[in-house]
Amino acid sequence: MSLFDSMYVEDHEQVVFCADRAAGLKAIIAIHDTTLGPSLGGIRMRAYASEAAAVTDALRLAQAMTFKAALAGLDYGGGKAVVIGDHTTTQREALFRALGRAVESLAGRYIPTEDMGTTTADIERVRKESRFGVGRDEVFGGGGDPSPMTGWGIFCGLRACLEEVDGTAEFRGRTVAVQGLGKVGYSLARYLHEAEAQLIVADVDAARTQKAVAELQARVVSPEEILFQPCDIFAPCAAGGIFTRDTIPRLRCRIIGGGANNQLLTDEDGDALFARGLFYAPDFAINAGGLINVADELGPGGYRRERAKAKTEAIYTTLKTTFAEAKRRDVPPHRLAVTLAQERIQAVRNLRKLGAAS
Ligand code: NAD
Repeated sequence: MSLFDSMYVEDHEQVVFCADRAAGLKAIIAIHDTTLGPSLGGIRMRAYASEAAAVTDALRLAQAMTFKAALAGLDYGGGKAVVIGDHTTTQREALFRALGRAVESLAGRYIPTEDMGTTTADIERVRKESRFGVGRDEVFGGGGDPSPMTGWGIFCGLRACLEEVDGTAEFRGRTVAVQGLGKVGYSLARYLHEAEAQLIVADVDAARTQKAVAELQARVVSPEEILFQPCDIFAPCAAGGIFTRDTIPRLRCRIIGGGANNQLLTDEDGDALFARGLFYAPDFAINAGGLINVADELGPGGYRRERAKAKTEAIYTTLKTTFAEAKRRDVPPHRLAVTLAQERIQAVRNLRKLGAAS
């Protein structure tokens, strides 16, 4: 499919190709929808197998950010930048400053933050060349690493799931399998441990699982086994695309909710989970805490942790509403979540322009 045809499929507004030979920059900024406000989304750095794969990822991730912001009640649209390259490179200043110039050229239509392969330090490099960039370190007035807020939002969202399935939000006596103990997974695991859940964990990094054994009394299984553990909740906090025709029949959990983006490769995979009677919390609904946290830096008076936390805790209510409305309309929650996001965007698009300048 041509690039323009791909943009037409999900109505992407703009794709910007950014190159700076001296800085070694090859990047793509995808802006999906700015109806609700400027597009906001992370900069992902990855050694993509091909330029086409990078474009596809940028388009897909930008659209997911539109839905995430819309459902979280934020006045931002969806955007994403992907930088093609080794994310462990130490040659970062010129690279991210060059990207910063491209960001500045968009005059606020795209506001970057960190994502896989990038850090708060990279955001500061962007900020040397641009007024735009959030997810800043506390010393620069930002909210710092958003991952702990993402973990807290998932914990609040899982309470809504438990209530829906078991009629109680009690974690004591429940078993939760956490796939990936990185920034989000470990923080979620801590909250679950404090709530007296039993943890089963897996990570490709043995140091992380050992820490969870010592600190959280977790039981460790291999990365190959974690998906298929008998448990009440499975929390995917590593990569996306894990629920497929091959894995879905072998799952032994009752509830699914975690941090990984794009857990479903297709809507049909979500339908298959639903058909199996598994209760799936749409990823972009339950993992919105990090986005809420970085967006708060743009709120009145700058970043306020308590305000960001309160908005993150509203993920519980968002999920309750989504589940109730899904039942009422007789559709699976993963499809309804997309519909609710689209309906909010359409409603704002339809507003009459009474306040607009003539
Ligand atoms: P991270 O890199 O800190 O953690 C990922 C962890 O998963 C690492 O410990 C890694 O070793 C482990 N891992 C990788 N492959 C694995 C496998 N096959 N089995 C088990 N473990 C494996 O990343 P993160 O910031 O914690 O993000 C985790 C996921 O959540 C990503 O999909 C990310 O896009 C998504 N997400 C993150 C945030 C955030 O605030 N950081 C917000 C929303 C969504």
